[in-house]
Amino acid sequence: MPSVIFRKGLDLKAAVASELAQDYRSALVDELKASDYTHRSGRMTLHLAREFGFCYGVDRAVDYAYQTRRKFPDKRVFLTGEIIHNPHVNDKLRASGVRFLDDPGESAAALGTDDVVILPAFGVTVGTLAQFDRQGCTLVDTTCGSVLNVWKAVRRYAEHGFTSVIHGKIHHEETRATASQALKSPRGPFLVVLDRVEAEAVCRYIRHGGDRAVFLEAFGEAMSPGFDPDRDLSRVGLANQTTMLMTESLEVGDLFRVALGERYGAEAIDDHFRAFDTICSATQDRQDAVVALLREHPLDLMVVVGGYNSSNTLNLARMCAERVPTYHIADDDCLVSPVEIRHRPVGSKAEVASSGWLPPSGPLRVGLTAGASTPDNLVGAVILRLAACADALPPSPVNS
Ligand code: SF4
Repeated sequence: MPSVIFRKGLDLKAAVASELAQDYRSALVDELKASDYTHRSGRMTLHLAREFGFCYGVDRAVDYAYQTRRKFPDKRVFLTGEIIHNPHVNDKLRASGVRFLDDPGESAAALGTDDVVILPAFGVTVGTLAQFDRQGCTLVDTTCGSVLNVWKAVRRYAEHGFTSVIHGKIHHEETRATASQALKSPRGPFLVVLDRVEAEAVCRYIRHGGDRAVFLEAFGEAMSPGFDPDRDLSRVGLANQTTMLMTESLEVGDLFRVALGERYGAEAIDDHFRAFDTICSATQDRQDAVVALLREHPLDLMVVVGGYNSSNTLNLARMCAERVPTYHIADDDCLVSPVEIRHRPVGSKAEVASSGWLPPSGPLRVGLTAGASTPDNLVGAVILRLAACADALPPSPVNS
């Protein structure tokens, strides 16, 4: 039996609004937004980025998940995995009775017509969607419109005989879902490149050819089945995971444009290279706000709040770390004391504990931002803890 799919909510927005506000809003953050995004407490002046936290896609996905739980109180409600990359939000949904198909003991194969499945903001693969459809589940699709735009571009590339080169992380749910869109066409090759270094390696192959076996070995699961670099790199369409560093996505596009122009001639470039603007505006706004914050305020340190597996948060931290000491923390508990902090350094895969993170005296200027999956209440809790830590150290001679 085909699935029922809810794509525009479940008409319960008003019914869940107060619950959402209670779970994720922060009066302190609302106050800061009305006070020029600045908070003063003791020796600390905190500057908040002008765009941070929940993006429109995440806001909508969480809203739909709450509506789903309300609409189907007697049914089993599942998520395919994390709805967004923030453990606090996922834990809240778990506590409300939503089950996660990637939890031990859960199985997508066991779902049937009585079950409800919420598809996350970053979407699911074509294969996964088809499976739920075959099983007759009721589906609540929260796939973000900005992700759908990328999918549309990828399908168009495939229909026109172009290989989709996706700037993204091959194990990220969104990139896997995007790549699967290429395969909807009978001949829809794709290749995922992580960064500039990988893009340059592919561009060298475009210009000069190379050892096919080495190429296949290097890109392994980042390619569509049967990918042939000698055949599939002559016509390239650029796409990206929406949460990548915008500047890097643009650089990757330029590298391919130049390489294909050199290989086939500038006059033939339209037959060999295509790109659509698939950078999500929320990601771009958060990155732009960090650039502005770093430009406008001299800072002693930057705090970036968000899940350690949140791609857009990692990129915000990466941008900040190039300019100022930066601490990517998951939540306020990471601010262990005025001396000790737990954080994930840029480029590291794990959380570490560091000491001496706060300058011991003098006026303290802190910048703060949060990834697109971080709710305001977490940001508010971090601000309060930062103020407590700053004031717990000896007062500066200036202020005393
Ligand atoms: S980061 Fe962009 S694409 Fe991803 S959910 Fe948010 S708005 Fe949508």
